[in-house]
Amino acid sequence: MSIAENLQRIQQRILAACQRSGRDAHEVTLIAVSKGHSPTRIREAWDAGLTLFGENKVQELKLKVGQCPGAIQWEFIGHLQTNKCREAAYHARLIHAVDRLKLANALQQAAEKLSKTIPVLLEVNVSGEASKHGFSPAELLEQLDELNQLDRLEIHGLMTMAPWSKDPENARPHFRALNELRGKAEDQLGAPLTELSMGMSGDFEVAIEEGATRLRLGTVLFGQRT
Ligand SMILES: *Cc1c(COP(=O)(O)O)cnc(C)c1O
Repeated sequence: MSIAENLQRIQQRILAACQRSGRDAHEVTLIAVSKGHSPTRIREAWDAGLTLFGENKVQELKLKVGQCPGAIQWEFIGHLQTNKCREAAYHARLIHAVDRLKLANALQQAAEKLSKTIPVLLEVNVSGEASKHGFSPAELLEQLDELNQLDRLEIHGLMTMAPWSKDPENARPHFRALNELRGKAEDQLGAPLTELSMGMSGDFEVAIEEGATRLRLGTVLFGQRT
């Protein structure tokens, strides 16, 4: 299967999930997760019409920025170390996984040095798995006002990863919980949080049904990573 063919099927599946849940397909943005794939493959995806790509390592992102079409827009989806956040903020238009206050503070400083504001999402560890990064739901609400005071960060919404499972239905309660938490956070801030970054290759249709606005899709688009 070519990337173009994969994309066509994915778009059909996105559309069907939107129709099932009464959503407008324009509310759902596909991020092509290109980690582990070559600039040649990225070029192929670009030629198929994709413009937004996601990377999870700063070193790999930097290399690819130099080797891929210049008009590509990059989003950083991975766990970020504070000493790399300036480079991530420089190359990426959105940081998906701000998972702790310390990182938010470092991004604030980086943004000041870069003389820009940084659009971010706050990562929530909804499932509570020890292996996952992110604020616990309670922590998020506790620290939200402090996060919101960082004037160089624009908080656009929340992000989560569901636990791995063969059955996408198992992800549903986690996605639903993230959407509910978004509502509480909006009430607390008195401002809208429009973005919910949730849904990967194995569970993106359920994510759409539960309100996802940004899908992070790798394998279903590019095939297995080597
Ligand atoms: C790799 C990765 C994805 C994509 O995973 P697939 O299952 O290949 O679609 C999504 N989000 C994050 C944070 C990732 O690291």
